[in-house]
Amino acid sequence: MNWVSGKAVGLVLAFVLSGIAAASAAAQQESWRTSNDSANLRDYYYPGTEQLRPDEMRVVALGTGMPAISKGQAAASFLVQLGNGDNFIFDLGTGSLGNLIALQIPWNTTDKVFLGHLHFDHMGDLAALMIVGVSHGRNVPLNIWGPSGKTHELGTKYSIEHLVKAFNWELSSKRGLIPGTGYRAIVHEFDYSKVQTVYEQNGVVIKSWPAVHVTDGPVSYSLEWNGLKFVFSSDTVPNKWFIENGKDADIVIHESFPSINQLIFRDQMLPEAAWPVGTRVHTQPAAAGRVFSIVKPRMAVAYHFIHTPETHDEVYSEIRTTYDGPLTLAQDLMVWNITKDDIVVRQAVVPSITYPSKEKTAGAKVNPKDRVAFLSDWLEKGRLNLADIDLAIWRRLSPAIQERIRNFAPALVPAGAETNAPAQPSGK
Ligand SMILES: [Zn+2]
Ligand SMILES: [Zn+2]
Repeated sequence: MNWVSGKAVGLVLAFVLSGIAAASAAAQQESWRTSNDSANLRDYYYPGTEQLRPDEMRVVALGTGMPAISKGQAAASFLVQLGNGDNFIFDLGTGSLGNLIALQIPWNTTDKVFLGHLHFDHMGDLAALMIVGVSHGRNVPLNIWGPSGKTHELGTKYSIEHLVKAFNWELSSKRGLIPGTGYRAIVHEFDYSKVQTVYEQNGVVIKSWPAVHVTDGPVSYSLEWNGLKFVFSSDTVPNKWFIENGKDADIVIHESFPSINQLIFRDQMLPEAAWPVGTRVHTQPAAAGRVFSIVKPRMAVAYHFIHTPETHDEVYSEIRTTYDGPLTLAQDLMVWNITKDDIVVRQAVVPSITYPSKEKTAGAKVNPKDRVAFLSDWLEKGRLNLADIDLAIWRRLSPAIQERIRNFAPALVPAGAETNAPAQPSGK
């Protein structure tokens, strides 16, 4: 059942909105939004239809679930968009890239990723962003921030260097055929043990601090800009660093793992694993509520559980045993628009299939000299020579396009292209 669409969205939103103090009245005042459609004003966000105000932050959930991902719920990832045009991605778990692509944001602005730790469910789509991002239109390098580890081999730099190596064949195959600058990954590794600023540019300050998750290395983040503060736990159990650094935030996204019962009966974990993982590696819903109660955000967001109508009530009521402030239980493509005055929570409505963006070819050039190899003589001898088909296709191209191809690869211009004679099939 695809419960993320249609009627079920309304049902889930009704659950979610029941916990939100600030949202409904604010939606009535949104006269600046460009669409007058009443559904848009109430519950839905249509990407590309409204510009952020200069003082506004938009947070979009790209992935909110568990390592056991599903079609309707990807693993951890949150996008922060600012009124100054900057975009920041926090974690990029498996499946989340599809949601990023669906938002159709200019690709050269989705070039900054901050990793909380190196679990697969927080970085599983990173290789895809590096490579697929170029196919879609990013032609600037991908910048990745992440923590060091207890040893060099457990740090972000080592991880990304080997990720790039794992895709050596892929990257080699594209050299000289596709503009290549976007394939570069620039890693900014920082000391996991410090409370520190790891990014400061264009009025945006991003800080990291230690998270308590499995072993030394994971971190949590805050992003501050224009008097607004976003906080993201990535994975952690409640800890002193989060309490100290998560205060005075407009939005705090903290993990809230499935309840122990859900781990055993829905996530199929062994009870002897569910207890230590649920309480010492991750945060139980009531424990997340305790954190929210202490740091008191304008909006608390709980994520990192399989979110269905069945699990919703249990997670919600457990959080409510320890916290009674503004709360959203995240689901994929949920959107929070944050200003000093309002926090509006909606669900994004997106296309399920998109084309690459026009940025991809704007000003882009490829250098034939970059190409390592095309078909070897051995493969060329194995290729069926379909010259008649090549020529028929060639003649349907515009002269300008023919000219570009001729200049780039003169040897590939079909035989007979310069005359009106039909090509002779080789009959191989
Ligand atoms: Zn983790
Ligand atoms: Zn996780």
